Amino acid sequence: MPASAKSVRPQKTANPPTVAPVAPGAGLSLVQRALRKLGLVRDIDFALYLPMRYEDETRIVRLADTRDGDMAQVEGVVTECEVVFRPRRQLIATIDDGSDTCQLRFFNFYPSQQKQLAVGARVRVRGEVRGGFVGRQMMHPTVKAAGTALPEALTPVYSTVAGLPQPVLRREVRSGLARAVLDETIPVQIGLRGAWDLRSSLTFLHYPTPDVAMATLEDHSHPAWQRIKAEELLAQQLSQLQARLERAAQRAPKLPFSPKPQPSSLHAQLLAVLPFGLTGAQQRVGEEISGDLAREIPMHRLLQGDVGSGKTVVAALAAARCIDAGFQCALMAPTEILAAQHFGKLVGWLDPLLAERGLRVAWLTGSQKKKERDTMSAAVESGEAALVIGTHAVISEKVRFKNLALAIIDEQHRFGVAQRLALRGKAVGHLEPHLLMMSATPIPRTLAMSYYADLDVSTLDELPPGRTPIVTKLVADHRRDEVIARIQAQLGQGRQVYWVCPLIEESEAVDLRNATETRDELADSLGPAVNVGLLHSRMPTAEKQAVMAAFTANEIQVLVSTTVIEVGVDVPNASLMVIEHAERFGLSQLHQLRGRVGRGAAASACVLLYAPGDSGRVGEAARARLKAMAETSDGFEIARRDLAIRGPGEFLGARQSGAPLLRFADLSTDVMLLAWARELAPVMLEKHPELAQRHIDRWLGTKAEYLKA
Ligand code: ADP
Ligand code: MG
Repeated sequence: MPASAKSVRPQKTANPPTVAPVAPGAGLSLVQRALRKLGLVRDIDFALYLPMRYEDETRIVRLADTRDGDMAQVEGVVTECEVVFRPRRQLIATIDDGSDTCQLRFFNFYPSQQKQLAVGARVRVRGEVRGGFVGRQMMHPTVKAAGTALPEALTPVYSTVAGLPQPVLRREVRSGLARAVLDETIPVQIGLRGAWDLRSSLTFLHYPTPDVAMATLEDHSHPAWQRIKAEELLAQQLSQLQARLERAAQRAPKLPFSPKPQPSSLHAQLLAVLPFGLTGAQQRVGEEISGDLAREIPMHRLLQGDVGSGKTVVAALAAARCIDAGFQCALMAPTEILAAQHFGKLVGWLDPLLAERGLRVAWLTGSQKKKERDTMSAAVESGEAALVIGTHAVISEKVRFKNLALAIIDEQHRFGVAQRLALRGKAVGHLEPHLLMMSATPIPRTLAMSYYADLDVSTLDELPPGRTPIVTKLVADHRRDEVIARIQAQLGQGRQVYWVCPLIEESEAVDLRNATETRDELADSLGPAVNVGLLHSRMPTAEKQAVMAAFTANEIQVLVSTTVIEVGVDVPNASLMVIEHAERFGLSQLHQLRGRVGRGAAASACVLLYAPGDSGRVGEAARARLKAMAETSDGFEIARRDLAIRGPGEFLGARQSGAPLLRFADLSTDVMLLAWARELAPVMLEKHPELAQRHIDRWLGTKAEYLKA
């Protein structure tokens, strides 16, 4: 579930390790193992492991000059030191630096600390000064012997893990940085000029001089930071460009089509049986895809279009092109329900037409009975199944295609890298299948440029005609009664209603109980004439499908569900969507859910029920999400707002399992650097291929492998 991706650590430390997992244990010390967890293996990894903040140990200040809340380093003589037991056991010492005194308190302490603070000892103490009513105080300061030389640079503080104390990590980074080969990989004649070369930038960022304007380190605007970010962005652009070139060297089956419409083609016949004409956008995108399919370079295209923009038809027409050329097509969806919807729709359109040709549509999922799966697999292997629809079971190892030429992935962000690789394994001989990915959550342009540079993008920017806009209302939870009245009004007009229950992350059992209770309550309020159904991810597939079928047939009028209906479900008669605890959902998820209504001609509405948390208020980010939902139903605008609320790291994290995120650059602010990198990458790859490769390896290491998947 995308929602669980919320529990991320601070963005700059949450990057996937740069190193592939190594067999656990394998003779490593505890420290090495901890370092590995942080992705620190190669010298360069250490060099690029930048601090999250700094401590200033370069100066000694006078106690008298410190104010409440200051981080301060002072030196003085211990005048008192004792262990007290009330109100709890603690070590209390007092130091005097000649200007004033300060009390030091430790709740957990070692005998060695007690010794260090013996009365009369001169100590150097660093901590946060609190000006309580008993005078100055520091809680748990660090204590060293006084008199050692002061460092000249700020002290780095790195993000670390259990088993790796800060001083050990500091030492490891220092020696890694010293050993790292940091010669320039960006050729001078095309690259960056100026004082901040790579080594001096990294050295400075690990050990800045105390006169630095701290804000420029924190917001990464310092020239040293600019240098690092530019290098990283260049590496990313290079590796994507390289992936694109590699793909261009691969071969896919050519699926030519006649520019003159052939009435006997499946494509033409499908167009004829569709109950509607294509929108201009569908036509244009269809041509873009046909153009790709006619080439012998594998297509790698993302079809993005808002919920309800009609991606399924585009997919069906692409499948028809593929079948017309005598090849097989696979269509995969992330959930069984969604796959079943596609299946229902495409079978309705295509099966009669395929039957005339002695072909059929096959259905493959993990939950299928063995006998049925065997029959389906046999049809796939013989080529009788020209179109194969299902979940990722379609690309499981056991399934063998006769001649797969086109794979279509719906809701591509739910498919992981491993699955996309498995798909490539379905190549026929040396021919890779063309790949069409579909997504209802558009990627803002800057992100598309950076993360999907090796992807061609087609956009359905037009909704089918006759849709009435969805009205979105925010309603506080205590006004539920009004919502019931709304439901009754819709039912009175013969319409149907979705009621989505909130995610409760601890347990699916609790989710189920809540959903069941809601169903019972609604059944009570709405009376016996109304059928209220329940859909939950734990239900057996057959039961889920039966409920969906009953809802599609309007035998069930109100469907209570957990978020299993999130993507793709299409019941045009449903005109009201109620989302309970809407504040708990992510923005794109809310938008997806809302897209389940407004699919027919009836005026539709979406009610977002929200409940303030324990603090009595809805949190700031949640409020921004609800506001965005109320203000716009344009998926592209929603995506822009989502990006603004979450930042690119999380925004992509929830979408792209396995995709490496930028560690240093920030796409929403580093627009100029990105433009620079985009311009330079092709030149560098052409004129200095070895340097380009070394640059990629240095910055992305094995991460580059992810990008190619
Ligand atoms: P999505 O892009 O969200 O996958 P669908 O493909 O499910 O959208 O299409 C949404 C609805 O619009 C479906 O009921 C579909 O049959 C219908 N539809 C698609 N294209 C057109 C069109 N050109 N004219 C009218 N209705 C269309
Ligand atoms: Mg869809």
